[in-house]
Amino acid sequence: MSENVTSQAHIHGTAGTDTLAAEQDIVDLAREKVLERGEGLCQSEIVRVLTLSDDRIDELLALAHEVRLRWCGDAVEAEGIISLKTGGCPEDCHFCSQSGLFESPVRSAWLDIPALVEAAKQTAKTGATEFCIVAAVKGPDERLMSQLEKAVAAIKAEVDIEVAASIGILTREQVDRLAQAGVHRYNHNLETAKSYFPQVVTTHTWEARRETLEMVRDAGMEVCCGGIIGMGETIEQRAEFAVQLAELRPHEVPMNFLDPRPGTPFADRPVMESSEALKTVAAFRLALPQTILRFAGGRELTLGDLGAEKGLLGGINAIIVGNYLTTLGRPQETDIDMLNRLQLPIKALNATV
Ligand code: SF4
Repeated sequence: MSENVTSQAHIHGTAGTDTLAAEQDIVDLAREKVLERGEGLCQSEIVRVLTLSDDRIDELLALAHEVRLRWCGDAVEAEGIISLKTGGCPEDCHFCSQSGLFESPVRSAWLDIPALVEAAKQTAKTGATEFCIVAAVKGPDERLMSQLEKAVAAIKAEVDIEVAASIGILTREQVDRLAQAGVHRYNHNLETAKSYFPQVVTTHTWEARRETLEMVRDAGMEVCCGGIIGMGETIEQRAEFAVQLAELRPHEVPMNFLDPRPGTPFADRPVMESSEALKTVAAFRLALPQTILRFAGGRELTLGDLGAEKGLLGGINAIIVGNYLTTLGRPQETDIDMLNRLQLPIKALNATV
């Protein structure tokens, strides 16, 4: 109810300004609002970016890159990701091959602590500053919590790298334990727009995911929250999602593009066109000028090498090095070479972005 009242007041109070903004070319408008003032675009403006004609993509990416340089700096954050517990998840996220409810070929497996420490060492050698430990669960049980606490302690004792975690929906007590253990960033994706979420997941709610993120922020950990683009959402829902992410003020947003996995309900969904993916990258940068925007899964399939370079010169300022959770990425050196070729420095440990 109060949301309606607020938005009505906004419409009436700023009708003249909104009319003017609607008449202005969207790229010019974004230049003034986002580049000059550091304010993110609103939902209707994001829709206009997402529906720009393809012959304006280069101009759009150039602006998104300027925004990223101005508000985030030139460094690219590199992160390694490792799965502590793979597969066999009881949830039904329709894009995910780790769900135990679908006939996908991912087998359930656990990694031990020496293997996690070794993976963190290999990740640090690439120059990456983040190492994220992930588990395919709705939320952690006591076994997973204590395994993660031990892993974080062991990595911190031996490797100079920040440790992040992604182990699902948390209770407040679990949030506090992770903060206490020294997890500095917590990843929990909202996955998609609130209005589209029921078409993607039926075993838990969008709101439950959001509550975890609020507790993570309250406990002093950095919030990492993104999702998957190209799951069948409309352009308006894609813009809605960008705004819902911006409202969270996340430190980092990982952008995945749907890689339709065999055996999942979304196995037959089409792969997104690269032009559409690049417009989405630029639109998210214009919605989130100060946020770390990370290329995550599906980028190779959707964009290829050339498209990935365009994204890094079009608003992206972080990458995952090595393999993703259930699909192969590229050799770590390939990505580092790409950053060198683009003359983009890798963010140093403890540097502020
Ligand atoms: S996305 Fe996460 S919660 Fe959903 S099925 Fe996959 S592992 Fe489970």
